[in-house]
Amino acid sequence: MRRAMWGAATDIGRVRRVNEDAVLASPPVFAVADGMGGHAAGDVASAMCVDVLGALADIAPARLSREQVLHQIRKADAAVTSAAVHPDRIGMGTTLCLLAFVDGSPSGRCVLVANVGDSRAYRVGPGGLEQLTHDHTVTQELVDRGEIAPHEAEGHPESHVVTRSLGSGARLDIDWRLVEAGPRDVFVLATDGLTREVPPDEIATIVRASHSPQHATDALVAAALGAGGRDNVSVVVVVPDADPASSPVVDPLDAETDRRVGVLA
Ligand code: MG
Repeated sequence: MRRAMWGAATDIGRVRRVNEDAVLASPPVFAVADGMGGHAAGDVASAMCVDVLGALADIAPARLSREQVLHQIRKADAAVTSAAVHPDRIGMGTTLCLLAFVDGSPSGRCVLVANVGDSRAYRVGPGGLEQLTHDHTVTQELVDRGEIAPHEAEGHPESHVVTRSLGSGARLDIDWRLVEAGPRDVFVLATDGLTREVPPDEIATIVRASHSPQHATDALVAAALGAGGRDNVSVVVVVPDADPASSPVVDPLDAETDRRVGVLA
């Protein structure tokens, strides 16, 4: 039996008038979603997405399969797609980046990471920061094809255009991978309101300097706001193995008092 800890936050940012992001922190499932679609629609799409995924809450990780999670993502896609036929909601959709504890390895340390769109998952571990997801954007495709250099993606006119989303009505193509979580690993899920404002090395530094997942979450959101806060910003930080003796971001006192602690049987 092991204990996980997590933190979650979403902020409207300093420029936008609506928060179209949504977060989910309902173990064994964690997610961020970044809605799109203009007036009063993007927030509906992202909220609907995390609501459908929330149905997986409280399932013991040993009983939750990768197939169940992917099936639920497809249900969320179908729900957003059918709601998007409303005249006020044409074109609405949402990104999704998800982490779930699933039954996938003898050690019980297996996490499923899945994404659609440009919200990201990072792992901050002893070896540094690793981006676990691949952005589904026009500019990332240009980089992948060698047509532009990675540094040219930033500031490119189409850098915000996602090539995959939930609710598009197209066949849903979900990227997913199973990751064996090490005892010192910290996972960060974030919308582009964080990843466009705060570079990866700074994200790693902030996470390492934190004493609890919620502290890390709040510090990351504050960094995005401090860098301009030009978009909604949402962050979920998950420590799968919250043993204060080994985890770099778990203070024993916080582990005792923080209510965002779950026992993963
Ligand atoms: Mg965004």
